[in-house]
Amino acid sequence: MLKENLADVESRIEAACRRAGRSRSDVRLIAVSKTKPAEMIQEVHNCGILDFGENKPQEIKEKQPLLPDDIRWHMIGHLQRNKIKYIIDRVCMIHSIDSLRLAQAVNEEASKRNLTVPVLVEVNVAREESKYGIMPEETEEFVRTISTLPNIRVNGLMTIAPFTDNAEENRPYFRALNKLCVDIKAKNIDNVNMCDLSMGMTGDYEIAIEEGATMVRVGTGIFGERFYGPSQIR
Ligand SMILES: *Cc1c(COP(=O)(O)O)cnc(C)c1O
Repeated sequence: MLKENLADVESRIEAACRRAGRSRSDVRLIAVSKTKPAEMIQEVHNCGILDFGENKPQEIKEKQPLLPDDIRWHMIGHLQRNKIKYIIDRVCMIHSIDSLRLAQAVNEEASKRNLTVPVLVEVNVAREESKYGIMPEETEEFVRTISTLPNIRVNGLMTIAPFTDNAEENRPYFRALNKLCVDIKAKNIDNVNMCDLSMGMTGDYEIAIEEGATMVRVGTGIFGERFYGPSQIR
């Protein structure tokens, strides 16, 4: 089942790249494995996927030792400052920098271990009350501020688009995030490398690719529905 799901996602990614005149190699598929067991991750890894996304530090800490070393773990969910230490040397990128205090705390943990951690700034591009993220008009200033922190490196922007049955409705948000990224890139801020746009999930990744995503985060489309226990919330 995982293999078929993956083949389906892969062919949709290829088709979206073709429609957009983009190269398949410009888009990285991140398999979002939150709540899913190590065995399933291993199965997806066996199909050649190396990038996995998780939103809870505890899950990365538990799963990483059980799985191959060549896996690149992406922290994609809201991160509490007291949990940074569990993941700082296990992840290849933190997609969810949503406050100055978090950026400073990640920088501090990284400096303790002599690391430079690639990060993305999470932008609340649709201005949803329920979502974390920097407001679009504050993003450039925010990027400038955190660009001075020596042990993180801003690599681009990330967004979680609104939940919708009609992915087309998210196109303007993806387009806006891409424009914001291009505009900030043009400022040539020291220590900032605006090359990654992490946007698009199971419901809307094809549209996100058409609008310039370089990373898509697909969970349900690969692993199937997630089931949460009574004490677990998204
Ligand atoms: C869960 C999650 C995803 C994947 O969602 P699906 O709809 O299952 O593809 C992507 N990004 C973030 C930040 C998530 O928390």
